[in-house]
Amino acid sequence: MLVENNVPLQSCNTFHIVAKAHALVRIASEQDLQDVIGNPDLARLPKFILGGGSNIVLTGDVKPLVLKIEVKGRRLVQETDKAYVLEAGAGENWHELVAWSLAQGYPGLENLAMIPGTVGASPVQNIGAYGVELQDRFHSLDMVDLRNGTRHTLDAAQCGFGYRDSVFKHTAPAGVLSLTNTATATGTKAVASAGFGLRDRVVITHVRFLLPKPWKPELGYADLERKIHESGIRSPDPLQIFDWVCAIRSAKLPDPAVLGNAGSFFKNPTVTREQCDDIIQREPRIVHYPMDNGAIKLAAGWLIDACGWKGKSVGNAAVYERQALVLVNRGHATGGEVMTLAGAIQTSVYERFGIMLEPEPVVV
Ligand SMILES: Cc1cc2nc3c(=O)[nH]c(=O)nc-3n(C[C@H](O)[C@H](O)[C@H](O)COP(=O)(O)OP(=O)(O)OC[C@H]3O[C@@H](n4cnc5c(N)ncnc54)[C@H](O)[C@@H]3O)c2cc1C
Repeated sequence: MLVENNVPLQSCNTFHIVAKAHALVRIASEQDLQDVIGNPDLARLPKFILGGGSNIVLTGDVKPLVLKIEVKGRRLVQETDKAYVLEAGAGENWHELVAWSLAQGYPGLENLAMIPGTVGASPVQNIGAYGVELQDRFHSLDMVDLRNGTRHTLDAAQCGFGYRDSVFKHTAPAGVLSLTNTATATGTKAVASAGFGLRDRVVITHVRFLLPKPWKPELGYADLERKIHESGIRSPDPLQIFDWVCAIRSAKLPDPAVLGNAGSFFKNPTVTREQCDDIIQREPRIVHYPMDNGAIKLAAGWLIDACGWKGKSVGNAAVYERQALVLVNRGHATGGEVMTLAGAIQTSVYERFGIMLEPEPVVV
């Protein structure tokens, strides 16, 4: 096992913020994790788990031991009349998995094309785009508890998926975490309870996806409906949807290779019907979407734009001119500048609409 010191992280985060890892270990297998856990000097250090760095803001050098996840492998583990079950290593590139699954003839992930990052991070914020969330295609995952090296398999209920949320995004209050192991035919199973947080305490090593048969297209999203209308293709196949999603995303979002960013910086807030009616009286043009549970989702980008933030900056951190939901690095921005800008946006949206926006990326 190689411990690398003072590792530059600029190329390991899509904001391209300059920072260093004091110490970094590359994790290419579960055994690499066991070696870290079994090493008395490393085991006692706090840890930070790094995938593709596309959903983090680095606010300085990273003092915890960085575990850079590079576990590879993709395979079909099961096929039944009702579904395909695929498995991928946590270090696989997400978009490449989507493209591979389609090339192999296992459709179902096409709406999630072109989301940057790794497979292992996909359950962390229950990635979602164009009408599909990871939880809609999730089967189970394997993880290792960094405190004692035990291996656990979690199903969807145990992951506590929500809108851009899961148990992996939350820190457990000290002493609260307790994984109870129950023996099953396939190994141990962790029994998770509500209020349970696993951030930086477990490493996801493999994720399995359940792709239902027969395949059904998910087209109930305005941009995709527009593509159907423009192209005249009423019954697109999975590859057609993949191509459309890639084209829509390329037109809308800045390419992190060209302009540093972490995608949508804030979650779309949800409000009650009464709250929404109240805001509509003051702001008749507010963009809002009724949800199945009766709540209303508001477009965070619209709220930010309405407060006049498009194109504004703090130091070298700026609000993207073409999409107010995206904060960008205009060159040499620090994490502090990004967070100061984010805080100023939160304050002005709160003062005007009474809504506190919640950042999507993890602040490190
Ligand atoms: C241009 C752009 C567009 C984007 N579009 C979308 C979108 O449409 N939908 C969407 O949901 N997101 C989107 N994102 C956000 C991002 O791509 C996803 O959140 C992605 O899943 C992050 O993956 P990552 O490997 O880069 O994670 P990282 O940024 O490295 O890590 C994110 C968090 O996950 C934890 N983590 C990472 N790997 C593991 C692991 N193996 N085990 C345990 N914890 C782990 C980290 O500790 C950290 O807390 C976008 C980002 C960009 C830059």
